[in-house]
Amino acid sequence: MSKVVIIGAGGVGQVVAFKCAQLPEVFTEITLASRTEAKCIDIAQKIKQTLNRDIATAQVDADNVPELVALLNEIKPELVINVALPYQDLTIMDACLEAGVHYMDTANYEPLDTAKFEYKWQWAYQEKFEKAGLTALLGSGFDPGATNMFTAYLAKHYFDEIHTLDIIDVNGGDHGYPFATNFNPEINIREVTAECRHWEDGQFVTTPAMSCKQTFTCPDEVGTYNIYRMYHEELESLTKHFPTLKRAQFWMSFGESYLKHLEVLGNVGMTGIEPIEFQGQQIVPIQFLKALLPDPSTLGPRTKGKTCIGCVVTGVKDGKEKTVYLYNVKDHQDCYGEVQSQAISYTTGVPAMIGAKMILQGNWKKPGVWNMEQLDPDAFMDDMNQYGLPWQVIENPGFDLV
Ligand code: NDP
Repeated sequence: MSKVVIIGAGGVGQVVAFKCAQLPEVFTEITLASRTEAKCIDIAQKIKQTLNRDIATAQVDADNVPELVALLNEIKPELVINVALPYQDLTIMDACLEAGVHYMDTANYEPLDTAKFEYKWQWAYQEKFEKAGLTALLGSGFDPGATNMFTAYLAKHYFDEIHTLDIIDVNGGDHGYPFATNFNPEINIREVTAECRHWEDGQFVTTPAMSCKQTFTCPDEVGTYNIYRMYHEELESLTKHFPTLKRAQFWMSFGESYLKHLEVLGNVGMTGIEPIEFQGQQIVPIQFLKALLPDPSTLGPRTKGKTCIGCVVTGVKDGKEKTVYLYNVKDHQDCYGEVQSQAISYTTGVPAMIGAKMILQGNWKKPGVWNMEQLDPDAFMDDMNQYGLPWQVIENPGFDLV
């Protein structure tokens, strides 16, 4: 008997709600709450039509702790699945502590005025959650999330010690728009335009955004893509929890059209996060841009192609050096057929549902604040295979990575 409250009714929230609704034996009661309740009601109706299951909905401002606490005290869930925006992480964690509810999310806290991508604010809650006897699971999406689990699984089963990690996120999907982002545009653009940092010999090295590029040929005929090195938040926790890592890098594929638009928008100031004065009103350029761009949750029907996200790890086993690649390939249209969303929301929402299941079933119910790789990966990896994100392993794949 487990009641959950999902906060956030965007692209990811829809997938989490669908996937939890598919498992009534684990998620016995579901409430989907968000700033705009109409979006929750719309998702609840889709779930009723396709799965014949009722889920409850609610309106909440997740920036407001007393409002959140009142909602949690009324519903009394065991767990909150936070798939609102990273800005709300700390207020939701505070509310969970006050109401005595376990917490999880898919992205680390970011202050609204600086694109920082650091875990320090959430790690500072370790003692509070420990004392309250509550679990807080951080970053249970795909990257971070599944990629942390892939690394932990490889370290546990394929190596005695791991030395290098390359996380490679390829989206071979095409939505047909000249420019659109696959998840929240504001978060996506803040991430992509941030300076690149990668781990090298015990420290983070900073290089300009998008300045390091190579080509990568995905397995299973997904294709060959240009991938660009960028900073991604799981590098911080993975290098902390696997101190034998000498190098850790994150790569993402981008098409020519996406990069061209981003460059122009950046040059004219449209990606700025500082408010400007416009006709007597304060506006934040990136938030205005978000209002102009296609809503990522509407890309599902038009996105065709596959994602291929995985980890290439090198290290030693029984004194011998080896390389292992663990990855998942997912088809956008298959996702749309199942939960009416494209694969970016799907590949985030499924690990969120599985992370929630791990907490509720007791596998990961442990007081404190945890990154995924601090917890045992085996049951999670089994569930990835069972609930829509099957993975493969290639030993010594012969990649020639920079
Ligand atoms: P969307 O913008 O599509 O959805 C965000 C939702 O949160 C919207 O329903 C929005 O409400 C709601 N929301 C925003 N502010 C508040 C608030 N103050 N109170 C209540 N609800 C609020 O984003 P996505 O679904 O694409 O992404 C959701 C999360 O998933 C983000 O944190 C993102 O960073 C993360 N993510 C993680 C990935 C991973 O692999 N780890 C990959 C992709 C995303 P409204 O409709 O009113 O605007």
